Parts: sequence; structure tokens; C-alpha cells
Amino acid sequence: MGLRDLPSVSVVLNTGAAVELMQRFGRSAATDAIRAVLDDARTALQAGVAGVPHIDDLALQATALLETEDRSDLRPLFNLTGTVLHTNLGRALLADAAIEAAVAAMRDPVALEFDLSAGKRGERDDHVRALLCALTGAEDATVVNNNAAAVLLAVNTLADGRDAIVSRGELIEIGGAFRMPDIMQQAGARLVEVGTTNRTHLKDYRAALGSQTGMILKVHTSNYRIQGFTAEVGAAELAVVADAANVPLMNDLGSGTLVDLSRFGLQREPTVREAVAEGAGLVTFSGDKLLGGPQAGFIVGKRALIAAINRNPMKRALRIDKIRLAAIEATLKLYRDPDRLAERLPTLRLLARPPAEIEAQARRLLPAVARAVGPAFTVQPCACRSQIGSGALPLETIASAGLVIRPLAGGRVLDALAAALRALDWPVIGRIEDGGLTLDFRCLVNEAAFLSALSGLDGHALA
Ligand SMILES: *Cc1c(COP(=O)(O)O)cnc(C)c1O
Repeated sequence: MGLRDLPSVSVVLNTGAAVELMQRFGRSAATDAIRAVLDDARTALQAGVAGVPHIDDLALQATALLETEDRSDLRPLFNLTGTVLHTNLGRALLADAAIEAAVAAMRDPVALEFDLSAGKRGERDDHVRALLCALTGAEDATVVNNNAAAVLLAVNTLADGRDAIVSRGELIEIGGAFRMPDIMQQAGARLVEVGTTNRTHLKDYRAALGSQTGMILKVHTSNYRIQGFTAEVGAAELAVVADAANVPLMNDLGSGTLVDLSRFGLQREPTVREAVAEGAGLVTFSGDKLLGGPQAGFIVGKRALIAAINRNPMKRALRIDKIRLAAIEATLKLYRDPDRLAERLPTLRLLARPPAEIEAQARRLLPAVARAVGPAFTVQPCACRSQIGSGALPLETIASAGLVIRPLAGGRVLDALAAALRALDWPVIGRIEDGGLTLDFRCLVNEAAFLSALSGLDGHALA
């Protein structure tokens, strides 16, 4: 058997499996895939590492190739990392009401910038402005692509070519490309740092105010805390100084929450309403952090400042589409009934899950997990701590439960297991620490799907 015995592309295309392949993926993709597996078979044959494959095997290989190519890396996965708002895993999960609203807006035309009652052009922000004002107590509001965009747009509007005063203790990096000094520079503002890393006083701000001042910026140090010998000036105090100097104060809250989180057993964070009441001219916060909606950045505050933001041509470049706007509107409406919020908003529901319930789930799932990972590992229940994530309440962890999987022998087998779990049709992402893989079940909602995903794992291959 040699190269001449390898079937041609057209012969493979005539097999039943290939006909099915063409129906599923189209003629040209099927042909390309068959050509690719034939090329591989030819190479293996020439190298003497394989014989001539059976024609049905070639069709099967082509099917596998196309199925792999067709599988999206954006497919749903199980976030068992213990970080509820995981930025790399897409942050908040949307409420059913928000998903339905987004789907409806995708499928049909909607009055995005059209005033249905007047029959003329309307404004995109109109769909959420009143809701945002009602929920935060602000005079006016607008929404853009994300909170980074909100900060960029607001700083550019207030301080392009002018001074923006910020405490040295608040020059944060959120991760990736969001560093406050860089954003301010891109916005055209001259950064005027005041105070020191650990202590900033009112007199520091006062001394920096001048004819070139465009704004005072207060930033919620969302992903770290400065502890010990520290001093910072609260937004309420700063607002008085800003008002006296006739300079706008902006407060970037980062996560920002619309409700008192202690209702859900979490540590209290200042709400957006409180930040507005403290007197900041503008308050910015994210849509997909604690708020539990889609990616978005909200800017709420004084009417004249929001009007100036809306006149900024950059606003157009940072605006959001109808899909997210529909999802935001539906999410914000859930906040009108705070008593049922934990039921309806997945983010809060997950954060508020009682540890005992998670522990029971871990015990229930232990046998299936042990079977799936195979004989090379031990699996034990463990108490663990979940994080909120996305920089919200960075020091607070919440009691949770899960399973810890440890290799009987050391070595790379744990990495191999983690990779095999990531390669599943419905990937499972855990957390590797202390030589074990921890699966924190706080965010496991669909237990049946998890069990079915596990059945795709061949534990014996890892032994
Ligand atoms: C997260 C965060 C941002 C950026 O918000 P995105 O919605 O991720 O763009 C800005 N400022 C603070 C304080 C944050 O915590």
C-alpha cells in the first residue's frame, strides 16, 4: 500500500459521511476539510508512521476537523474559579428580562432614536435617562460603552487642555490598559497629583486649585485598599471646596451599586445615590459589575455637565447599540423592586447564595467528579472563599464550598487535567492553588449540564 492507494478528494466526497458533511457545512468547507485530512494522511504515509486510512475514517476525520473549527471559543463555560464577576469570563450574567429585551431588539426594528408619541426623531438616552435619575437621584444621566469610556469622555469634556486634580492615593490601575494617569492624558487633561500615596488632605486640593483647573477627580480605589497611617478627603468635603472654586467634582465609583449590599449579606459599599447626594457634579460607574447588567458605563449628575458631555463629539464614538440599551433598560427596571432583586438578578443571586447550599451541592457532585477525573486523583470537599471580582470590595471574600482535586503523584498531571477540563464542549474553569485544582461551586447553576459536560472527560487517559 502506497501513496497511489490514497483515495482522491472526489472519491471521499462521495461517501455518505461526506454528503452529510456538505449538508452541514457547505460544499466548499467540506472539500477543504477532506483535502486537509488527505494531506495529513499523505505526510504520515510518506514518513512511514501510518498506513493508508480507510475512506470512512477520512470522512470522520474531516467531520471532526470541521466540528472543531465550528466550535466557538465564546461558547458557555462553567465559571468555578470562585470569582463571581470575572472580567476575563465576561463579568455579570444577565437577568432573563434583560436577555429577552435584548433578543427582541435584535430581531426587529425598535424606536432607538425615535419618539413614538411625537412621531419624530428622539434620543437614544431617553430609554434609560428617567430610570437612572429615579434610581440615583441625579438630575440627568447618559450611558456609553463602558466605564472606562465614561471616565475618558467626562474628563475630556471637563478638562481637555486644563488641569485635573487627583490624589496620589487614587491613581489606580484597573488592569490591562486602564491606568488613570494614561486615561487622563488621552483625554487631554493635565494631571495634577496632590497629597501622597497614603495621605491626602483638603489643603492639598486647595493649594492645587487655580485658573487652569478643569476638574477635581475622585476615584474609588476599587481593587486595593491603603491601610495604616492614611487620610483621604471624602467626596462630600471635596464637593464643598469644588463648589466654592466653581470647579466640577467627578467621582468615579468603578463598580457602583444601586442598592445597599448589606441586604444581601455583603459588606456595605456606598451607593450611587449616596455619591450623588454628596454633591459630586458627575458620578461614573459600570454596567456589568455589581449592577449586574451588560457592559456599559453610566454618567449621572448635574444637568449642565451632562449636557456638555452630550455635546462632545466623542460621545458618538462611545455610544452603545440597541441590544445593550434594551438589556440595560430591563436590568434597571428590576431595581424598582429591590425585594425581588436577588431572585431576578443572577449576580446578586450568586453573591447571596448560602454556603450551606453550595456545600450540599459539592457533596452531591463529588462522586461524579471523582469518576470523571479518574484514578490519578483524589477528590475532597473543601471550604473555600469566593471573591466578588472586577475590583468590587477587593478585601472581602465570601464563604463558599467546593471540591479540591489533587494528583496522587505530583507532576504535570494537574495541568493536564485543567487543560482537559478547558477542552470540554462546555469548558470547566477552576482555580489551581497549593498543588490542587479547586472547583468553587458558588456560580454553578446548571448542575445537569455540568454532569453532562463531565461525561466528556476521559479520566483514564490522564492516569
Ligand atoms: C472597573 C473600573 C473602571 C473601568 O470600568 P469598565 O466598565 O471596566 O470599563 C474604572 N474605574 C474604576 C474605579 C473601576 O473600578
